[in-house]
Amino acid sequence: MRKDHRFYTLIIASAASARFYRIIVHHRQIKAALIAGLTGLSVLMGVSIWVFKQAGLLAHYHLVVRENRALKREHAAALRRLRARLAAIEAESHRLRQIAEEIGLNVSGDSETIEGTTSGVGGPGELDSFAQELDRVASRLQWLRESLDDERVRLATTPIGWPIYGRITSGYGLRRDPFAEGYEFHTGVDIGAGYGRPVNATADGIVVYAGYRGSYGKLVVIDHGQGMRTFYGHLSHIDVAVGDRVQRGDRIGRVGRTGRATASHVHYEIRFDDRPINPRRYIFARSILALTSR
Ligand SMILES: [Zn+2]
Repeated sequence: MRKDHRFYTLIIASAASARFYRIIVHHRQIKAALIAGLTGLSVLMGVSIWVFKQAGLLAHYHLVVRENRALKREHAAALRRLRARLAAIEAESHRLRQIAEEIGLNVSGDSETIEGTTSGVGGPGELDSFAQELDRVASRLQWLRESLDDERVRLATTPIGWPIYGRITSGYGLRRDPFAEGYEFHTGVDIGAGYGRPVNATADGIVVYAGYRGSYGKLVVIDHGQGMRTFYGHLSHIDVAVGDRVQRGDRIGRVGRTGRATASHVHYEIRFDDRPINPRRYIFARSILALTSR
């Protein structure tokens, strides 16, 4: 094997003292130094890349944490909004159920749906479906509210019950004429009651007649809208004037025997589109639901 005699001389000259330093290095030493240098460099590069990667991962981690926090806040806010809506809807539902009870409607089906939606609210996906369910319930409530309001107006303006409690002494329809030979058509019912006792309006409305009218004697007529009017005849005294707004139960006059009457009583008549109808159903109706086939 041939011996390697490749030596190199490194001369370093000092500018200050004009001295020379001579370093003699072998070819293999240079090679080793080069290899060591390259290895060091690549290790350094590797470490740098790793450090950069770690820094990137860390930044990404912080970003994810921030996003997560923001999402949690959003989620909580959305939940709070939905809870507030739910509370409003529940209050509304409660109010509507009270109205429905007043009127006698059964709306238990709707309340069950609302109670069903309140349970099990979890992740954001569920929030969406919960919100959709709330929208659905809210629109049904809106519809219910409108129909209940209509119903309430109809209830208030439909004559129900007695203008005065008493015995029905003469019913609606064909009857023997109490004053002459033959028969006559009785357009209302006669309710026997003590002279001077109060007579009440059977529904909300506006007084359209208050005065004397032929065989009716002293008469009050109340218009309830939708073509409905009530007549209260033979009064001894009238307590209202034309144009007065009255509510069900308000006193409008007193029992008498004015006009074509043989004893003190109230002639109570209901007209629909100016045609007399049998008041019996209305007098004995407990609620508007009994009168839906008017
Ligand atoms: Zn009569």
